[in-house]
Amino acid sequence: MRILLVEDERKVAEMVSRGLKAERYAVDVAENGGAGWAMAEATKYDLVILDLGLPGMDGSEVLRRIRAHDLRTPILVLTARDATSSKVENFEAGADDYLTKPFAFAELVVRIKALLRRGPANQESVVRVADLEIDRLSQQVRRGGHRIELTPKEYGLLDYLASHPGRVLSRTMIVEHVWDQSFEGLTNIVDVYVRHVRAKVDDMFPLKLIRTVRGVGYKLSEDEGQ
Ligand code: CA
Repeated sequence: MRILLVEDERKVAEMVSRGLKAERYAVDVAENGGAGWAMAEATKYDLVILDLGLPGMDGSEVLRRIRAHDLRTPILVLTARDATSSKVENFEAGADDYLTKPFAFAELVVRIKALLRRGPANQESVVRVADLEIDRLSQQVRRGGHRIELTPKEYGLLDYLASHPGRVLSRTMIVEHVWDQSFEGLTNIVDVYVRHVRAKVDDMFPLKLIRTVRGVGYKLSEDEGQ
């Protein structure tokens, strides 16, 4: 997998590129927008990580050009601006995900893996993990054949995990998908809700399905390993 990193802050670029190489990705770095666009135009990258604030050609312009040229390469935008409006604008211009600086490297890796593995989201109406059954049409949840009553937020959390079975989802990703954009609270709301859902879905069963991935987030899986 070959990744293009467009980032003018040398320290961030070095940290990210060193980390990604340790994860066995091939990484090319462009230090300004013009170079980034030229590289994206010349080479088919599997993923582009794009800083928005760049000298010369601004990140938003690079984003527009890449999207006009190639519809499919996933683009993850790095932004220091926390304004919701600029996030929305970037999604409209074709960014697939964004991360606000400063970010934890582990968070970046989870996002990258999710983007690289993203097929169509799981559209099956019934998701089964071991003896857990989530009917996404009727929003009914059963385990071992017994009906489990969840609140809407608890269901939203379980449904989001179930739409990516076996994949690690970070707390921030969960907050962004299950709570709406206006939610500015702490991501430990996720831990609180995971506890509620576990009490109903996992506690009375020997096989635990909602798994904690240390320092990153959660996944729904019957396998112990990562
Ligand atoms: Ca910058």
